[in-house]
Amino acid sequence: MKLNKVTVDDLNVKGKKVLVRCDFNVPLKDGVITNDNRITAALPTIKKLIADGGKVILCSHLGKPKNGPEEKFSLAPVAVRLSELLGKEVVFANDDEVVGENAKKAVAEMKDGDVVLLQNTRFRKEETKNLEPFSTELASLAEVFVMDAFGSAHRAHCSTAGVTDHIKDTAVGYLMQKEIDYLGNAVENPVRPFVAILGGAKVADKLNVISNLLEKCDTLIIGGGMAYTFLKAQGKEVGLSLVDDSKLDYCKEMMEKAEKLGKKLLLPIDTTIAAGFPNPIDAPIDVQVVDADNIPADMEGLDIGTKTQELFAEAVKSAKTVVWNGPMGVFENPTLAKGTIAVAKALAETDATTIIGGGDSAAAVIQLGFADKMSHISTGGGASLEYLEGKTLPGIAVIADK
Ligand code: ATP
Repeated sequence: MKLNKVTVDDLNVKGKKVLVRCDFNVPLKDGVITNDNRITAALPTIKKLIADGGKVILCSHLGKPKNGPEEKFSLAPVAVRLSELLGKEVVFANDDEVVGENAKKAVAEMKDGDVVLLQNTRFRKEETKNLEPFSTELASLAEVFVMDAFGSAHRAHCSTAGVTDHIKDTAVGYLMQKEIDYLGNAVENPVRPFVAILGGAKVADKLNVISNLLEKCDTLIIGGGMAYTFLKAQGKEVGLSLVDDSKLDYCKEMMEKAEKLGKKLLLPIDTTIAAGFPNPIDAPIDVQVVDADNIPADMEGLDIGTKTQELFAEAVKSAKTVVWNGPMGVFENPTLAKGTIAVAKALAETDATTIIGGGDSAAAVIQLGFADKMSHISTGGGASLEYLEGKTLPGIAVIADK
């Protein structure tokens, strides 16, 4: 799949009202934004539309309000931060109906280049069910729709999909375009060798990703909690390690598939073990490293071992494209972060195109200080995973082709 969507560069928005779906689902603590990456990531599209003289109406969801409006899920703090980052007033259209009287009034008063932020789209119960009349109401505010919320593109909601039933003029924003260019090209049209690295807790979360990536990549590396189900499927003792017994056959199938396709499937050859999971998660912990076929029955594997770190780093060295999703161990604990750090370092040191597929691995790379060494860090955990599964994302499909 190649990106062939209308983009903001193809639009003429002068004097027009443009509804932009952003991903402003930022972490908040006591009403304070603790990480504004998602707001920063939305700036290029917003600035472009302002510069072109559009009337820029922004919308997003925030958190998971259950029963309509809830003060703690208000987008008000986002309006303040966005205003600071843009150096320009952002009018917050506080409105429990999202598109009620307040919002309509704020939009009616806009001049070219003005910016209005609507209230949390999930204050309307229709939003997550993609139901009317919310889609029609959202669409009634604008003449053009721009989708720039990659983190929400895997969901067909009113503000990501339904709204396009009523607005003909649609485009993707710069953030979406970048995500599709990197993730899409990596999976569909990679410069080879293409190495995919998967980690994280559970095999069950990544069944389709494993299967799809095996077809697309040259080498698939599996670490993290999910590796132990593979090791057990090979007949190894894995002690108290995280295992999904219902997926043993699946793992066998994947190992056979790799062999049949002539793909390399790399699993941990040694592992860092402890007497149990750290509690709290960052508590000091006694560990030792053992070979993967030598895990004692009363111990738990919590990170890849030193030989595995070298094995994985070596595989990365010869790659031209690397996609990574999921940490190699319980990286929240400094003693168990070594495997994740080693992989992050290997990616930082290669000239290959390196793509981090959102979620915990993105958090790990940022937290460990390797962010600026990567070609692309996806802003969407779930969305990037679905992309890696080879699925068509509804929020991309609804945007007009060139
Ligand atoms: P997302 O799905 O948000 O993209 P992710 O794919 O990066 O996240 P998850 O599947 O959520 O990753 O798993 C991450 C979690 O897995 C981390 O909290 C980490 O502590 C845990 N984890 C990693 N290795 C192990 C292990 N060996 N045993 C138990 N838990 C582990």
